[in-house]
Amino acid sequence: MVDLMAQYERIKPSIDAAIQSVITNAQFINGPEVITFQEELSDYLGVKHVIPCANGTDALQIAMMGLGLQPGDEVITPSFTYIATTEVIALLGLTPVFVEVDAETFCMDPISLAKAITSKTKAIVPVHLYGQAANMEEIIRIADAHNLYVIEDNAQAIGCDYYFSSGEVSKTGTIGHIGCTSFFPSKNLGCFGDGGAMMTNDDELASTLRMIANHGQSKRYYHDQVGCNSRLDSVQAAVLRIKLQHLDSYNEARQQLAAFYDHAFQSIPNVKVPARKAYSTHVYHQYTLQVLPELRDRLHNYLSDREIPSMIYYPVPAHRQRMFSAFGSNSIELPITDNLTERVISLPMHTEMKQDQRDYIASSVQSFFNQI
Ligand SMILES: *Cc1c(COP(=O)(O)O)cnc(C)c1O
Repeated sequence: MVDLMAQYERIKPSIDAAIQSVITNAQFINGPEVITFQEELSDYLGVKHVIPCANGTDALQIAMMGLGLQPGDEVITPSFTYIATTEVIALLGLTPVFVEVDAETFCMDPISLAKAITSKTKAIVPVHLYGQAANMEEIIRIADAHNLYVIEDNAQAIGCDYYFSSGEVSKTGTIGHIGCTSFFPSKNLGCFGDGGAMMTNDDELASTLRMIANHGQSKRYYHDQVGCNSRLDSVQAAVLRIKLQHLDSYNEARQQLAAFYDHAFQSIPNVKVPARKAYSTHVYHQYTLQVLPELRDRLHNYLSDREIPSMIYYPVPAHRQRMFSAFGSNSIELPITDNLTERVISLPMHTEMKQDQRDYIASSVQSFFNQI
């Protein structure tokens, strides 16, 4: 699905030098690379504060802790997402409330969101799934009307631009009260291990998040609130500093591959290529087709026989996971979400795809639909 080795080969000298310099300085934790990376990322994103942490799941958890959410508070999230988005809600004793996604963008449906708000609702977690933004303008409008926090799960969409109707442009992850992202190796901006970050424009919130990520410590050995230990290490920060310089060109390579796939597949009957919305760019963390449910697994096997990987993100939506049975979520009706889990299939998508590889993938998908 990705080719991390080929990506490394192209920037090997600078990556190797950056890692070597961390080893030589031996400041493995909170070294200068971490400070510089957070400054560079906040410049790139146009956000006041970037608070690095150990992974994207921690970012979401610390964000919810930082907003002071209390057990019993309801947090609204799409069911069609990676489990991390929803898991941390339950872990903190909060109540996950699952809503529908838009069948075209795979992102939170604002109408479903509005219907799910109760007097206990405290926060909304839109997910910019596959690299395309949720309808943030509408989500923010609803959140403001009900005085709710918005935490963006931007793990799949770093670098994506959001266009407001006012003409203002913001990077996703900087629009809500807090944005969260992951630097897992296969993400659009990935390190060589685990990593994550939170983004906010709120000074007070930024220092709270920083404190929680560091054992709730305000000054050394003085702990003001219960926190955790969640750090980005210096080696990862050094790798990320190099890769951040290439992020825009990486996302462009993804967009070019997506345009090629679109062209190859858009006229196949009963195949839906990813939709694009005028309100945002798409950074194609995944390139996801929708096909007929009865053909989906056959297509996966057909490609697999040709040594082409494909993946189902995600075969079981959050509201159908056993981990949420205690919340009564298993019996709620989310027909669009259920339908998508039967139709989606993601193709290889990365920054180093060679022409013969992409041609082979395209002709294999085409020949599958020609022979059925
Ligand atoms: C990857 C991902 C996460 C979690 O990130 P980790 O760094 O693996 O903890 C959260 N949400 C979404 C949508 C993701 O894709």
